[in-house]
Amino acid sequence: MIRIQQIEKSYGNNTVLKGVTLELLENKIYGLVGENGSGKTTLFECVKNLTKYKGHIQLDNTIHIGYLPTSIYFYPNMKAREYIEFCMSARKVSIRENHITEINKIFELPLEQCAVNYSTGMKKKLAFMALLLQKNNFFLLDEPFNGLDLASCLIFKHILLSLINKQKNTILLSSHIISSLTDISDSIFHLSDGVIKKTYTSENFDIIEKEITHSTLNSKLACIDEILIQ
Ligand code: ADP
Repeated sequence: MIRIQQIEKSYGNNTVLKGVTLELLENKIYGLVGENGSGKTTLFECVKNLTKYKGHIQLDNTIHIGYLPTSIYFYPNMKAREYIEFCMSARKVSIRENHITEINKIFELPLEQCAVNYSTGMKKKLAFMALLLQKNNFFLLDEPFNGLDLASCLIFKHILLSLINKQKNTILLSSHIISSLTDISDSIFHLSDGVIKKTYTSENFDIIEKEITHSTLNSKLACIDEILIQ
């Protein structure tokens, strides 16, 4: 089990996370929803230890985190194949060209091209492919479906489901497209005001959209006509 306990994070006077606690089990997919700026990326960065935070994250040494950020950095002039090999060697995973070729049958990426020139969706596929080849077992995916075409979204979802069905993996992913989370998640956490305001399970997935948008949306919709039709 991965225990994320009482995580607090501030940027100057802006306290973004005020005590986030989550328990994540193997073979489960967890969704994370929250408004823009609610702290989803910040939480991912804390879990991946990319930023300082207060609180405790309990990960035993068998856990290997694969983090897919919203925008991915690629070195200029680095070919996609070199990027994959670089990620694999960073984890000391032996590089088998036929394995890379095999996995690329799913993604169909031009691996001899420079990754920096890839489209947004291709970059996402490349980074995800590298995470898969690195043999991670805890996947932190920040908006993984952004920039993907419909077929690629379905492929990503299929891969995520097979990751938890076939091996001992844990997945935590954020998305603004609630249906893409409800399709595959076991539970969905609503991050709001710096804490997990509510955890939804499949029995109450149907009320998520209504509940999380209710407070802000109605008043905003009401004033749109007023502002636009003057
Ligand atoms: P989300 O991913 O839910 O949209 P973020 O975690 O990106 O939210 O941002 C949460 C809050 O933290 C925002 O107010 C944002 O401006 C602030 N923030 C994020 N990163 C930094 C940073 N490096 N420096 C200062 N403020 C930041």
